[in-house]
Amino acid sequence: MKKVMALSLGELVLKGKNRYKFVNKLVKDIKRNLRGIDHGKIFHNMGKVYVEVVSDNEEKLINRLKHVFGIVYIAPCYVVETDWEKIEEAVIKVVEETLKENPNFKTFKVKTTRGDKSFPLNSMEISAKIGGMVLKNFDVKVDVHDPDFYVYCDLKKDTYIYVDKIKAHGGLPTGTNGRGLLLLSGGIDSPVAGFLMAKRGVLVDCLHFHSYPFTSERAEEKVKKLAEDISSFSDDLTFYSVNILDIQKEINKNCPEDEMTIISRRFMMRIADEIAKDNYYDCIITGENLGQVASQTIDGLKVTDNITDKIVFRPLIGMDKINIIDIAKDIDTYETSILPYEDCCTVFLPKHPLLTPTVEGIEKSEEPLQCDKLVEEAISKMSITKIGGSDEKKK
Ligand code: ATP
Ligand code: MG
Repeated sequence: MKKVMALSLGELVLKGKNRYKFVNKLVKDIKRNLRGIDHGKIFHNMGKVYVEVVSDNEEKLINRLKHVFGIVYIAPCYVVETDWEKIEEAVIKVVEETLKENPNFKTFKVKTTRGDKSFPLNSMEISAKIGGMVLKNFDVKVDVHDPDFYVYCDLKKDTYIYVDKIKAHGGLPTGTNGRGLLLLSGGIDSPVAGFLMAKRGVLVDCLHFHSYPFTSERAEEKVKKLAEDISSFSDDLTFYSVNILDIQKEINKNCPEDEMTIISRRFMMRIADEIAKDNYYDCIITGENLGQVASQTIDGLKVTDNITDKIVFRPLIGMDKINIIDIAKDIDTYETSILPYEDCCTVFLPKHPLLTPTVEGIEKSEEPLQCDKLVEEAISKMSITKIGGSDEKKK
């Protein structure tokens, strides 16, 4: 019996006149994510996208499709002609499989959507008829309030029968909301920030700062692995890597110790701003979170923001750490993030960082520094790598 993955599109279907643009982009993203794995035709019909299953690789297909933003649910379905005998065959097959996997299931409910309004029965009548088929063939009962499983029937030109609706991330297709430069550290937060903005359709590239040889090559490899994880949800990405050791040394030599972190942060923002301008990024993204550490007070964020005219997105700003960790685990970045490699921020960490900096105060402290020259030198030595693209790297 023919099988397809039916993909529900959530808010994409609300996109009015632009819907086709979004759906076309989504189909492109699906094709890219399914590179190197067997599948049949991909087509769009009445608000859903379908991927034909042509071999025994459903789990792999589902895992890849979960990485495509714009998909809300993935339903592995049997597709048959809209003909009662064929529908009954599909219903029996899907329920048989479900009960084999879940022998404790005792109750069910049928949910029908009727796309083909010319069909002689309405959706209630179709559900009743399918319910009758299940009752006749299996030892289960109907429970309309809290069933153990649903049997879904989408009746269109063909009929789609399924039980599983696997939740995907939703969001918007990659690149439908501009390009962003993510400040990616090796911590837990920034990969999650990148994921959340990519989910809203931002095409994300990554900028990482290190203090080699105080930070190691291993530490950089770890961050590249995180970038790769982000690219598996987005597209191939550019990874900019900038050594800020000379800048840190200059700050350490010339500025008050308690302002080390905030002034370093401003340099990160200066470098991000330059790269963003030169490469036409629409926004800068960070993993900052209000009150989490000393530099992330409202005053601290204001002093960092002051550096750039670009809009700075901080999607984690109001989240609790525990929720951020939940997302990091869900997107498989957590285990990499907690690997205990050194970070450039810990190289010159002040004992008591300033909690209430002001723009004027910090600008005064920066006077002995040749900011433009330091930024220019750091950028001139930056390395640029392409990340992603390889099929083996993707799950
Ligand atoms: P993370 O878990 O993302 O490292 P954090 O809670 O440790 O965040 P900070 O170290 O204060 O917080 O960093 C705040 C944000 O600044 C990070 O989320 C990231 O966007 C940016 N950032 C910090 N260090 C670096 C770095 N070495 N390279 C690039 N960006 C960085
Ligand atoms: Mg950090």
